[in-house]
Amino acid sequence: MAKYEKILLKNMEQPGYTGSLKEYEQTGGYQAFRKVCEGMAPSDIIETVKLSGLRGRGGAGFPTGVKWSFIPKDHPGPKYLCCNADESEPGTFKDRQLMERDPHQVLEGMAITCYTIGAETAYIYIRGEFWLGAKVLDQAIAEAKKAGYLGSNVLGTGKTINIFVHRGAGAYICGEETALLESLEGKRGKPRFKPPFPATHGLYQKPTVVNNVETLANIPHILNKGAAWFAAIGAPPKGTGTRIFCLSGHIKRPGNYEVPMGVTFREMIYEIGGGMRSDKPLKAFIPGGASAPFLTPEHLDVKMDFESLAMAGSMLGSGGITVMEEGTSMVWAALRLMEFFYHESCGKCTPCREGSSWLVQTLQRISRREGRMSDLDLLLDLCKSIEGRTVCAFGEAEVSPIVSTMRHWRSEYEELIREAEAAHPVKQEIPVLSQI
Ligand code: SF4
Repeated sequence: MAKYEKILLKNMEQPGYTGSLKEYEQTGGYQAFRKVCEGMAPSDIIETVKLSGLRGRGGAGFPTGVKWSFIPKDHPGPKYLCCNADESEPGTFKDRQLMERDPHQVLEGMAITCYTIGAETAYIYIRGEFWLGAKVLDQAIAEAKKAGYLGSNVLGTGKTINIFVHRGAGAYICGEETALLESLEGKRGKPRFKPPFPATHGLYQKPTVVNNVETLANIPHILNKGAAWFAAIGAPPKGTGTRIFCLSGHIKRPGNYEVPMGVTFREMIYEIGGGMRSDKPLKAFIPGGASAPFLTPEHLDVKMDFESLAMAGSMLGSGGITVMEEGTSMVWAALRLMEFFYHESCGKCTPCREGSSWLVQTLQRISRREGRMSDLDLLLDLCKSIEGRTVCAFGEAEVSPIVSTMRHWRSEYEELIREAEAAHPVKQEIPVLSQI
């Protein structure tokens, strides 16, 4: 693999770096915010971010500069920035490290974003279990306020920027931007119908930008070094800049790794991750968090960028790569993920609320060796009844483990059912939904 320079993890990988304001400033921290405060026009900042090609690092991959440009410039009332730090996707743990180890990098990105969109108030909605991250961020906010980077009249500009940390209660669905806003308003975290979108009707129905932690951490570097520098890193135009990938599962060296967009899964799993932990062959991997369809060893040379993964039938998602070795039961893997999604369904819409329960029960029956061949059609029928019929993208996410494992490892499902049929012969097949 060719040599590359890290952007986001660079500081924290220096021996003894604690992430204090002083240390962050010594590495060039807050220079981008100073440059912006010297009179950079918000439209120029948005143009720079657009040209950099930065796309959201939370999962959806929406272009960041474009998202900012949707905020109405002439809105008379308050506007808000919300940093989505509710990192809950199974297999994903990068935002946590960014917040705990280099909090000012995130805060500087937030301060620049507030300046750009004209927001005086920003919230960091952090997963409740990340108590350390919340504590570190609170301390960093106090330091930044004392130094004049936050508070009223920031760096003598006359502008006010305040950032508050808000701890969630550990609901996966609050990572969905409108559920996050509902929760922040003190309501139950359930996704809203869209449109209207948060850019015009966000927090308290005011214009709001919701950006992921890693996305915001990239902003100071883009402003410091320029759009062209960032756009040349990675696999332009399919994916620019670096990306922090979280390696977990049956791998020798699990952890967070920052690499340029466009490296292959082979490089990530075998060169960076050291290969399989027990030297058993690779059987499967999830390329972008639990919501991303499973891939097989045939996909090892797929490049890790937005378009290449979409073409391979999966997605880059949250950047969580979970690796599974030969011998792993794919029915069991699908069941474990489905149990998670069933538990986390917010219950707002019927296909997801009822369908997830039905999917879990059917998978449990197959796993217990009590399934029938008609269960396979039932599973796919249920998945079809959920996909595209729900309020939020959770519906597509929850069916992906089943649809993708059935696509690649259907024989494993059939094997369990054949064992069940041998033990308990079935007299009559139960019709699938579409036949009723
Ligand atoms: Fe809630 Fe599921 Fe409907 Fe999303 S798809 S709104 S999580 S019930």
